[in-house]
Amino acid sequence: MRMAELRQQVCDHGKKAVELGLVIGTSGNLSVRDGDLVAVTPSGAALDRLTPEMCPIVDVDGYLVEGDLQPSSETPMHLAIYQSTAARAVVHTHSVFGTIVATTMTELPPVHYNALLLGGVVKVAEYATYGTPELAANVGAALAGKQAALMANHGGVTVGASLEQAFEATRLLEWLCEVYVRGLAVGRPTVLTDDQLTAVVERSLTPPVFPRR
Ligand code: 13P
Ligand code: ZN
Repeated sequence: MRMAELRQQVCDHGKKAVELGLVIGTSGNLSVRDGDLVAVTPSGAALDRLTPEMCPIVDVDGYLVEGDLQPSSETPMHLAIYQSTAARAVVHTHSVFGTIVATTMTELPPVHYNALLLGGVVKVAEYATYGTPELAANVGAALAGKQAALMANHGGVTVGASLEQAFEATRLLEWLCEVYVRGLAVGRPTVLTDDQLTAVVERSLTPPVFPRR
């Protein structure tokens, strides 16, 4: 894929993240990988006002390849994910309900079967200062085998095979957090058991075929 196209994808999804209220101003960042190269949001820029030329290109080793602006301060976290998983895109936001869960809990329990799309229980990575290798390592541990993690007192991060997928995972993560937080305000949300989650996986693998008349 051409880097111009990846930079455009970063701009489009940055705009969408702000429009959907997942990002306020400059909080959050996104990236997409093609081969050894990664297009990422610049540090400190409003995500709804990006142009493709503003988005730096870095290589997976962390060297700046193209662009005049500095890459996001969370680039070490994005690159650590690319170096250790098959992910092709990473989305990080400070979305409201994700951040509420990340500041009050150690995990998001699966109260809805759609949590399986993110790997089931979403873990909250231990707190570390933004932009540090410590935060990258903590997020890596919480993300292992999953598509989403929360970052203590900070926000959320999702991964995907494309920026579209990682972005949809962020929307789903926020929805799951909202359901849980609002559920706690009403009563005690029931957590799905391992058996119930296994049954969902089995059901999705063998959907019934409707007979034709
Ligand atoms: P950047 O503007 O450097 O991407 O920082 C925003 C952020 O969310 C840090 O965690
Ligand atoms: Zn952040």
